[in-house]
Amino acid sequence: DSRSGPTEVTSAGTVDNDQAEITAHPAQAFGSDPLTVRDTDHYTNEYVKGFVEKWDDLIDWKKRYESEGSFFVDLLKSRGVKSVLDVATGTGFHSVRLIEEGFDTVSVDGSAEMLAKAFENGLNYGGHILRVVHADWRWLNRDVHGEFDAVVCLGNSFTHLFSERDRRKALAEFYAVLKHDGILILDQRNYDSILDNGFSSKHTYYYCGEEVTAEPEYVDDGLARFRYRFPDDSQYHLNMFPLRKDYVRRLLREVGFQRVETYGDFQETFTAEDPDFLIHVAEKS
Ligand code: SAM
Repeated sequence: DSRSGPTEVTSAGTVDNDQAEITAHPAQAFGSDPLTVRDTDHYTNEYVKGFVEKWDDLIDWKKRYESEGSFFVDLLKSRGVKSVLDVATGTGFHSVRLIEEGFDTVSVDGSAEMLAKAFENGLNYGGHILRVVHADWRWLNRDVHGEFDAVVCLGNSFTHLFSERDRRKALAEFYAVLKHDGILILDQRNYDSILDNGFSSKHTYYYCGEEVTAEPEYVDDGLARFRYRFPDDSQYHLNMFPLRKDYVRRLLREVGFQRVETYGDFQETFTAEDPDFLIHVAEKS
């Protein structure tokens, strides 16, 4: 039974493996036992229309700009980056930002719905025409040709890969589209603190005031299931793999990146003692 042993979090923050309610929005196709869904290919079922649109309506892009600041832009500029491949475009937040900052940007996502939304957002936020490519990271080089100065994989996206084989394959594909001196910027939630420090670290993340909340609903070494609640009481989930910082750093090194630097946080969230987000910058040469 995959539910015995590991910890589950109730909204009160107490451990209760038997009573915590594991529910799922019907549109997300998690099936009768969502905790068994630990599959890289499931991500396209999780980012369903209602979820994505609500998220984008509520998380004002301007506010997101402010909380993130110019961290990535500064980093890229300081390294003389001109061309960027955004491999986790989602609804386009980073792609649009990069285009506005003058980077030659190509936007990839494995979800066609996400890319459609990103394209629409590009037009709405400044009339930008995004160059979009529908591709899964594991077969990126089949669809994306060219050499980029940087690859960005942001917004805690790498967490969607559930096997080490998939992670290595994806990183190898990122490595291959980079110029000889290119860099990869990949961010992730700080899962170490969630896995190690127990419930004290499992705080609720508030976005846009309290309009959207994100909470870990269930966590074990192989699954972090987060619940996202919206003001109309609807809730959606994402099943993610809880990446440990040193593990990701090691993988980056093992696929060939020569140097990996890891930064903590750039954005404000609630009651965070440890950083909520970690940002790895990996250099190819
Ligand atoms: N970077 C955006 C942001 O911060 O708003 C989007 C982040 S969203 C959490 C993760 C994105 O990664 C989704 O759009 C999803 O479709 C994409 N994704 C997840 N796994 C993928 C894979 N194996 N190949 C391509 N895209 C993938």
